[in-house]
Order: sequence, then C-alpha cells, then structure tokens
Amino acid sequence: MTGRDPRRINADLHSHSVVSDGMLAPAALVARAAAGGVELFALTDHDEVGGLAEAADAAARCAIGFVPGVEISVSWGAETVHVLGLNIDPENPVLLQGLAATRSGRDARARQIARQLDAVGITDAYEGALGYAGNPAMISRAHFARHIVAIGRSASVSDVFGRYLSPGRPGFVPHRWAELGDAVHWIRGAGGTAVIAHPGRYALDALGMDALIDAFVAAGGAGIEVISGAHARDEAARYASLARRHGLLASRGSDFHSPNEGHVELGALAQLPASVEPVWSRWAH
Ligand code: AMP
Ligand code: MN
Ligand code: MN
Ligand code: MN
Repeated sequence: MTGRDPRRINADLHSHSVVSDGMLAPAALVARAAAGGVELFALTDHDEVGGLAEAADAAARCAIGFVPGVEISVSWGAETVHVLGLNIDPENPVLLQGLAATRSGRDARARQIARQLDAVGITDAYEGALGYAGNPAMISRAHFARHIVAIGRSASVSDVFGRYLSPGRPGFVPHRWAELGDAVHWIRGAGGTAVIAHPGRYALDALGMDALIDAFVAAGGAGIEVISGAHARDEAARYASLARRHGLLASRGSDFHSPNEGHVELGALAQLPASVEPVWSRWAH
C-alpha cells in the first residue's frame, strides 16, 4: 500500500468477536470484513486479546492488513469511557495483567445485574445471559440484552438498554473499570497507540469532553475515533475539529458486533474528513 494516500485505504479499526460481546468467531469476522472491502482491519474485543491470533491468521488468508487491538473499559469520574489500543503487542505481560484485572469484576457484576432484574420479574437472567457469552469471563450487558430480547421482554437490544441496563434503570449496576492513565500506559507499554472510542457516546458536555481529552493526552493518548459506526453521520465534523484542536490522530471504526445489531456494515463506513491525519498513516503495512 506504499505510495497510496492513507485516507483512501478502507480501514476499519474497531470490531468485536465472540471473545467479548460480538456474535461472530474471529475468523468469520475477518472474512466478512474482507468480503465488505475492508483493507486494514482491527479486532478490538473488550478487555481481552484472546481472539487476535485466529484473526491474524484469517487476515493473512484473506490478504487484508491486520492490526492487533483491544478496547479497554475505563472509569473516568462517573463516566465509563472506552479506550482503544491499536497496533499493540498482544503478548506484552503488563498489558495482559492489566486486562485480566479489568475483566475480573465482571462475573460478580453480572450476578448483581441478574438479582436486580429478578426484582422486576426477569428471572434466571444470569444463566440466560451466560448462554450468549462465548467467553464467560467477558459476560456483558450485551449478553443480557440478547437474552431479554429472546425471551420476548423487549423488542430490540437498544430497547433493553433504554428500559433496563442504562444508568437509572433497574438492571444497571455501577462498576469501577480501569483508570484512564493505567489503560493508556498499558497500551503504550505494549507498543500501541491509544485512541478514544466513539466520543459521541459519552454523557459529557463540551467542557467535559475537553477535560477528558486533556487528561487522555497528558497520559500519552494519541488518537480519537472521528468516524464511528456508533455515531450519526453528521457527528464527523465535530470530532474532526476536536482532533485538530487537540492535535490528535483520527481513527475510523464500525464497532461491529453482529450482522443483526450493526449500525454500519463492515467496509461501509464514511471516509475520514480531509482535515485530519489517519492514525494508520504512521504504521508500516
Ligand atoms: P458492558 O461492558 O458489560 O457494560 O457492556 C457494554 C456493551 O453494551 C457495549 O460495548 C455495547 O456493545 C453494548 N451497549 C452499550 N450501550 C448500548 C446501547 N444503548 N444499545 C446497544 N448496545 C449497547
Ligand atoms: Mn460491545
Ligand atoms: Mn465501546
Ligand atoms: Mn466497541
């Protein structure tokens, strides 16, 4: 790809497999990305790198570029923020230890979610959610949501989040994830680039977003998702301007979880605006 304008590379640097809360195996996810025209692909499971070897093999077979990644759950004040680690060494011991610690509270949290759901008449939700979790250690609200849709209590995954699983709703359990500085430190220590995922998803006003980015940059963070499948199309300009103002590189990712739940299909994202520098332009691929 040398010589080509990096902006024209069809990059998708944010996706999930059954190793966290996605619905496809890593190899099937990569095959779907290749079929969709993705040329540079990152698997970024939540707090877990166990799918990267299978995904890398599949990418080599499909002849697409592969970027090893992870999406770390971070608590920043009262807000949960997701930080992508892109182009990481998945064997770095400090990163692995940090991810293991970040995952460790999930089972207890899931049991508490189930107790609270039981109180509103949704019984046996822990067992139900576990049935959707390819990796029990990564049991997530997304697995509860799929179960609650399947038993007919809600029409869609996003409806379940609105009714039961978001702050203020009966199945919500506050949780302390990794510290922002620690997550960025683990990523950088593993040779990776830290990127703020889907900035449009956080309940932060403009001042709060600036404070988050300032703390992120001070910790060594380098990029922000300007194009995200979790954003509306008209949000790109806002995050491109934030990237420029804070000197951040720009990333592009679908946040694909499942063929049935995706907002955007693999390979079909809008291009990055011309005013920002792609995060992948600094990597050799
Ligand atoms: P957890 O890490 O267990 O808190 O689960 C977070 C995951 O739930 C995210 O990574 C998304 O996959 C999913 N999620 C969060 N909010 C929503 C929403 N409003 N609609 C659909 N899925 C959501
Ligand atoms: Mn997810
Ligand atoms: Mn996320
Ligand atoms: Mn994600």
